[in-house]
Amino acid sequence: MADAACLFCRIVAGEISATVVHETERTLAFRDIGPKAPVHVLVIPKEHHENVGALAAGDPGLAAEVLRVAAEVAVAEGVDKSGYRVLFNTGPDSGQEVLHVHAHVLGGRPLGALVGG
Ligand code: 5GP
Ligand code: ZN
Repeated sequence: MADAACLFCRIVAGEISATVVHETERTLAFRDIGPKAPVHVLVIPKEHHENVGALAAGDPGLAAEVLRVAAEVAVAEGVDKSGYRVLFNTGPDSGQEVLHVHAHVLGGRPLGALVGG
């Protein structure tokens, strides 16, 4: 169910523009507006789920598709051989800002420590 107040639902609806790099019937991948690495793409299901746990429980097939697209984006961005990181922030301690599940696909340089200070 689309959430009118949700930033990423609004991107899916075309109400807010984004640089889309990949699209399937059920997913969208677009560049992060504040990239933390040379490659920083967000992969989302078009359907609203709050976080990766809710997505995996509610629609495991769609969760798998998000992961498959993340890997395809890494290939398309040329970081599949050099390496990349896929991460899902979930809840307050993770710093999750947008409550519509999104996979961060990060790469293009050594990514350093898994967890910052
Ligand atoms: P979170 O902290 O929720 O895991 O990540 C949210 C991400 O969304 C951040 O990396 C932030 O830069 C990105 N972001 C926030 N607003 C926008 C926007 O309007 N467009 C795009 N493309 N990315 C956004
Ligand atoms: Zn949403």
